[in-house]
Amino acid sequence: MLDHSHDSWKAKAQALRFRHRAFIGGRFVDAAGGGTFDSINPATGEVLAQVAACEAEDVDRAVVAARRAFDSGVWSRAAPSHRKGVLLRLAGLIRDNLEELALLDSLDMGKLVKDAATIDVPGSAGIFQWYAEAIDKLYDEVAPTGQGDLALVRRVPLGVVGAVVPWNFPLDMATWKCAPALAAGNSVVLKPAEQSPLSALRLAELAAEAGVPEGVLNVVPGLGATAGRALGLHGDVDCLAFTGSTATGKLFMQYSGQSNLKPVWPETGGKSPNLVFADCDNLDRAADMAAFGIFFNQGEVCSANSRLYVERSIRDAFVEKLVERAEAAQPGDPLDPASRMGAIVDERQTRKIMSFIEGGRATARLVTGGERVSVDGRGCFVAPTIFEDVRPDDPLAREEIFGPVLAVVPFDTEEEAVRMANDSLYGLAASVWTDDLGRALRVSDALHAGTVSVNTVDALSVGTPFGGMKQSGFGRDLSLHSLDKYTALKTVWIKYGA
Ligand code: NAD
Repeated sequence: MLDHSHDSWKAKAQALRFRHRAFIGGRFVDAAGGGTFDSINPATGEVLAQVAACEAEDVDRAVVAARRAFDSGVWSRAAPSHRKGVLLRLAGLIRDNLEELALLDSLDMGKLVKDAATIDVPGSAGIFQWYAEAIDKLYDEVAPTGQGDLALVRRVPLGVVGAVVPWNFPLDMATWKCAPALAAGNSVVLKPAEQSPLSALRLAELAAEAGVPEGVLNVVPGLGATAGRALGLHGDVDCLAFTGSTATGKLFMQYSGQSNLKPVWPETGGKSPNLVFADCDNLDRAADMAAFGIFFNQGEVCSANSRLYVERSIRDAFVEKLVERAEAAQPGDPLDPASRMGAIVDERQTRKIMSFIEGGRATARLVTGGERVSVDGRGCFVAPTIFEDVRPDDPLAREEIFGPVLAVVPFDTEEEAVRMANDSLYGLAASVWTDDLGRALRVSDALHAGTVSVNTVDALSVGTPFGGMKQSGFGRDLSLHSLDKYTALKTVWIKYGA
C-alpha cells in the first residue's frame, strides 16, 4: 500500500535525485557551453537543480543524433510490433516510477502532487500504452486503379520531430507529442519548458531503460529564445510540434518560413467560455464543474473555463454557489494531500496574474479572492478569484490570464450567449450546461471551439482529438488523428501490366 500522507511526500521529495543534464544520443551530457539555469520550486523559492542550458550547438548535436538513429532504421524501420513492445514497457516504467514523476512535476511547477499522482502520471502511462497498442493495428491503403497498376498509399514516419512544450502539464505535454511521434517510427528532440524540465529528463532515461534506442529520444532543456528557437530554425528538423502561447506559436511559423518550411503544429492559448442556461437541472453539479474548470491546476490550463456566461435569472444564485466553492479551494502546500490548489509556476506568472486582478478591480466587481497569498510564509500563490459584472470587452474577459481568475458575464438570450462566447481570438474549448437537447446541439454547432463539452467541462480522452480553432492553433493532439502530424503519405505506384 502506497503511503501518500503529507509527511511521506515530504520525505520522498527530500530523497529525490534530479537529472539535470541534457539527454543526447542516449546519455546525459552537459551543455557544450557549460551554461545552466535554475529550476526553482515556486512553492518555496528553493533552487531544485541547475539544469543544462542548451544552445544552438547542443540542439544541433541532438538533431544529428536523432537523424543518425532515424537513418539507421533501428527504430524507424523496426516492425510496429517491436515499437509496441518497447513503448508498453515504457508505460509500465512510468507506472513503476509514479511517485517520483509526480513529485518532479509538483516540485518543479507547483501543481498538487496528489493531482500529478492520480491524473498526470497515470495519464502519461495510459497514452504511451494507447499508441503502443494502436500502432500495430494500422493498415496502409491500396488506391483504386485500372488493371495492371498497383498504387500503394503508405504512411511513413517523417524523420526528426522537434517538440517544444509548456510547463503547465510538463510530463503530459511531453507525452502528447512523444508517444504518437515515437510510435510512428520518428526520432524526437524534445525541448521542455525552462520552468519544468525535470520530468522530461527522467522520461528520456526511462525510455532508454524500456529499450528506445540511443538517439531516438533526446531532451534539450534550455531557454525558449535560444534552445526553442534553434530547434524551430533547424534545417534538418522535419516537423515541429508546439504547445504553448499563441505569441510563441506564431514565432514557430516564422522560423519554419525562415528555414526549411517544416510543418509546424501549433497548439496554443485559450479563453474558453462556459455557458450555463437556466434550464440546467443540476446547478450544484454545474457549479462544481465551473469551479473545477477554472481552479484546477491553479487555472494554468489552456482550456480553462475562464469566461462564465450565466443566464441572468440564475446569476445571483449561481455566483453564490461559485463563491462557496472558491472559498473552499484555497491554495496550500502542493505536497499536502489536503491542499485544494497548488502554487503558480513562478514569480513572473504570479505577477502577471496579479496585474490582471489589479486592473479588474477598477473595471469589474471582485466577489471573492483577489489576493496573492503565502503558504508557510513563502511561495507564489494566488487565491481563487471571481469577478462579476465583467464587460465583454474587459481584458478579464478577453485575455488569457492563465491563473485562477474567473470572469462572470450575464446573458439574456441564447443568441447573445453564443455571440459573446464566439467573440474571442481563441477557439480551444467551450462548455454548455442545459437540459434541452435541442439547445445543446444548436449551441454546440454554433460555438467556434475544437472541443465542446455538454453538461461537463474539459471533456478529454486519448481517444478524441484535442486542439483548437482560430488563434488556439490548428494541430490536434491525442487520438489516431495526431498520427497525421508525424507521418507523411507516400504513394508507391507499380506498373505490372502492359
Ligand atoms: P510559452 O509560449 O511561453 O512557452 C512554451 C514553450 O515555448 C516553452 O518550451 C518555451 O521555452 C518555448 N519558447 C518560449 N519562447 C520561445 C521563442 N522565442 N522561441 C522558441 N521557443 C520559445 O508558453 P508557456 O507560458 O510555457 O505555456 C503557457 C501557454 O501554453 C498558454 O498560452 C497555454 O494556453 C498554452 N497551452 C496550450 C495547450 C494546447 O493544447 N492548446 C496546452 C497547454 C498549454
